[in-house]
Amino acid sequence: MSRYCDIYMLAFDGEVCPVCGRKSDRQAKPDDLCFLVEKEQLWSGMLADVLEQHKIHFIQKNVLGAGLAAKIGQVRERVRFYVFFKQLPEATDIVNELFSSPFEGDGNED
Ligand SMILES: [Zn+2]
Repeated sequence: MSRYCDIYMLAFDGEVCPVCGRKSDRQAKPDDLCFLVEKEQLWSGMLADVLEQHKIHFIQKNVLGAGLAAKIGQVRERVRFYVFFKQLPEATDIVNELFSSPFEGDGNED
């Protein structure tokens, strides 16, 4: 049984949201959109492709607004993925397979 944080759109086990620390009595429902993972834009296209191949519905949210990212320029935009709770276990498996390496492209400036 998982609970659900409305603020961070996060399904979690236990009583307290690990992100905002709020106690939640709300149980996660199959159609709740749940935070899956945050990735650099570099990787988000690949992840989106694989999720589509597995017929997993998802939404993406850019962490930086497009305008802000363009102004900052060198800062890489990051993308958050959200999936329905009923598909969260499968989506989590896919993420773990794709990104099993601790290397995520960070700290590799050339
Ligand atoms: Zn929370």
